[in-house]
Amino acid sequence: MRPLPSPLGMTTMADGRTPQILPTRKHGQFLELFSEADVPTHRGVLRTVVFRDRRNGKEHVALVKGRVEGLEGVPVRVHSECLTSEVFGSLKCDCRQQLDRALDFISQQGCGVLLYLRQEGRGIGLGNKIKAYALQNKGLDTYDANRQLGFPDDLRSYDVAAEMLRLLDVRSVDLITNNPLKIAGLVEEGIPVRRRIPSRTEHNPHNVGYLKTKRERTGHLIELFHEDDSEAKVG
Ligand SMILES: [Zn+2]
Repeated sequence: MRPLPSPLGMTTMADGRTPQILPTRKHGQFLELFSEADVPTHRGVLRTVVFRDRRNGKEHVALVKGRVEGLEGVPVRVHSECLTSEVFGSLKCDCRQQLDRALDFISQQGCGVLLYLRQEGRGIGLGNKIKAYALQNKGLDTYDANRQLGFPDDLRSYDVAAEMLRLLDVRSVDLITNNPLKIAGLVEEGIPVRRRIPSRTEHNPHNVGYLKTKRERTGHLIELFHEDDSEAKVG
């Protein structure tokens, strides 16, 4: 009898029997390593690992290039979801560029991890992010807009990223970031950061204010480059 795949990824025989016991999933404190598969991309094959957060049902993703288990100094980017930039091409922030560059870098190195965290709008959610954009259109900067909506500057937490790295058995990381808070956040959660790999960013008339505000208000180590500047991308 031919096994039929079920929507849950379990193999079920045509008569409803389950012919084999699934391997035990890896559990952390609050995340479980739920599923993984190699996915072909235009940058080559990326192992796509999905983690589920038992506290809220959210699914976070790690894209893994090469072997990283048990290694020190693995290139890692901790990236927060940004639907407006990554899917719709919004020019208000540089998230898509950062994502593309990190994936380019990891692919070129043949080793690394991109953690894609489902925390839209620095954790405030999509609806509130768009509310904040409406306020920004009236002249507030990104941080004042969030404060007016009753949110702190940044609701992101790094416990999820740290647990993902532990479940992937990454020993220490070379973090691709311009954000000193990310380094501090990971270290606080027990992940050794060996060094920082700067992530270059290009400005356009729509995001230059946002990038400068990030640099001035939160100490981001951003060097601004114009789009036609052709120097190395990351690192
Ligand atoms: Zn963004």
